[in-house]
Amino acid sequence: ILHRLNDDGEEVDADGKPIKKKANILRLIKLAKPEAGIISLAFFAMLGSSGVQIVAPLFFGKVVDAAQRNMDELNNTVLILLFIYMGGALCSSARSWIFTLAGQRVVARLRKDLFKSVIKQEVAFFDTNRTGEICNRLSSDTQVLQNAVTVNMSMLFRYLLQIIGSLVLMFVLNPSLTGVLIAVVPIVSLGAVQYGRYLKKVRKEFQDRLADAGTTAEESISSIRTVRSFSGETKAIKAYGSDVDKSYKEGSKLAAAQGLFDGTIGLLSYGAVLLVLWYGGKLVYENTQDSNTGISPGVLTSFLLYTLQVALAFALLSSLYGDFMQALGASLRIFELFDRKPLVSSENGDILPMFDGHVEFKNVHFTYPSRPETPVIKGINLTVSPGQVVALVGPSGGGKSTIVSLIERFYDPDSGSISLGGQDLTSLDPQWFRQKIAMVSQEPTLFACSIKENIAYGRNATDAEIVEAAKQANAHEFIQTFESGYDTLVGERGVRLSGGQKQRIAISRALIMDPVILLLDEATSALDAESEHLVQEAIDRAMKGRTVIVIAHRLSTVRNANKVIVIDKGLIAEQGSHDELLAVNGVYKRLVLRQLTAGGMMVNNG
Ligand code: ADP
Repeated sequence: ILHRLNDDGEEVDADGKPIKKKANILRLIKLAKPEAGIISLAFFAMLGSSGVQIVAPLFFGKVVDAAQRNMDELNNTVLILLFIYMGGALCSSARSWIFTLAGQRVVARLRKDLFKSVIKQEVAFFDTNRTGEICNRLSSDTQVLQNAVTVNMSMLFRYLLQIIGSLVLMFVLNPSLTGVLIAVVPIVSLGAVQYGRYLKKVRKEFQDRLADAGTTAEESISSIRTVRSFSGETKAIKAYGSDVDKSYKEGSKLAAAQGLFDGTIGLLSYGAVLLVLWYGGKLVYENTQDSNTGISPGVLTSFLLYTLQVALAFALLSSLYGDFMQALGASLRIFELFDRKPLVSSENGDILPMFDGHVEFKNVHFTYPSRPETPVIKGINLTVSPGQVVALVGPSGGGKSTIVSLIERFYDPDSGSISLGGQDLTSLDPQWFRQKIAMVSQEPTLFACSIKENIAYGRNATDAEIVEAAKQANAHEFIQTFESGYDTLVGERGVRLSGGQKQRIAISRALIMDPVILLLDEATSALDAESEHLVQEAIDRAMKGRTVIVIAHRLSTVRNANKVIVIDKGLIAEQGSHDELLAVNGVYKRLVLRQLTAGGMMVNNG
């Protein structure tokens, strides 16, 4: 989902088309719309504080001139300036406070909306996008945006106001001096812009080389075992060294270019100031000769201060540009995620008034979107009748878990159809059918909240219901041994549960849904005998009266199943009852025999 840069350094979307920046900037501004009220308040505060900045140099000049006349005038002028500054401080803190507040509100809203969009994406989305990257969008990208839509925006207006206001006052003070200044500015800025482009190119080249070196290092480090076993250290060191040398070469170019840039810009700017100073000095000199011409030293002082103020505002504006570009990048990434429609919707659809647990696969083919070159399910037909226990068995990687994921509609098949209760899965309301199907996986995930909340994760339940579910799942007893009972926190700041305990809580969590279909993934790793027995008992109890699809690893499970389906390489190799399949003398028999003799995954405790 990431946008990328093309060869010219432009940002492009997945199809390589340049991204419309203007539209994004507008959208960025729109994000702040609900805060328009307080933002306009902040705007007024900003007018006040900028106004102070704009008039202050005028008064500095007046102080200089007053000092040449008498003490009273000097005192009064300084006092006025003090009051002006006090008003300015008030406006300034109001501005900063309100703008930041507005930003916080915008970003809080954005985060919530963004998370809503993320959590609804289809499961395949999470196969291809790393968790860290998605979380970055939520945390750092939104933070960058917060600054952009408020603080940076306010600074932009502030500096623009300062520049315009200062220029106007300069013009009023002395038009010809202002004219001289304005004449030299384009020369300086044009040079800076041109040179800046060149610098950017050099910098990109440098960063590209640096990235190359990073890739080289990563490759060697991540395959350290191969490097070590072939004594490839020297080779790795040489490869990395050569990359670093290349990046150093670009880096040294960059250093020289940057140095030259700093020096040249400095010289040009001070040259411009010097020119103004000289011309202003000439005007002051003329004033001493004839008081009707030229300007007073105070006016020259004000003028110089304005010049500095304008220059500073320009410099800060250009640094803002970088911030805005960064924010634009962040906003592109955020909007991309924001606008993404999940390929498998998790809401809307039909609800069956009666659902008996009938499941049917008709010629289902499926490939994981994250591994498009490897088909995983290659034409499966199967029927699970209401109340049946169907065991899926077969070599690891054959596609058993994938079939279970397809029943939950974590993914949609590439072709063929899956139906529940006779109706196509894609037309059913996922929220509804996921309530009717409960899953207990091998290594269940519990959340870092109380045991109670974990059991009632799937629906609101009363305490009595929670206890009942726990009793059914053989969990009540051990939960009671905890000091805080059902309120005991699970995980980091709570108790560490054993594998068997976790499973029994997971079974309670499934039972409280009173599901029509139970999806089970039997544990392959052995629990201790006591736990094993309790878990098995809970599972047996949970299976009663339900349609069960179980990824089976235990002989007792397959023996008791109504139907055993052997899944191998994405196809059904054999199906029938345990005894029927044993009689066939095929894959199943070999599987059972091998696993029993190897004492492997299929545990004989039946
Ligand atoms: P089984 O449950 O029979 O061991 P799975 O259904 O887990 O088999 O896996 C079938 C194939 O699909 C394997 O090759 C596995 O690597 C692949 N696979 C499983 N999950 C994913 C996924 N989320 N993304 C891509 N490939 C997957």
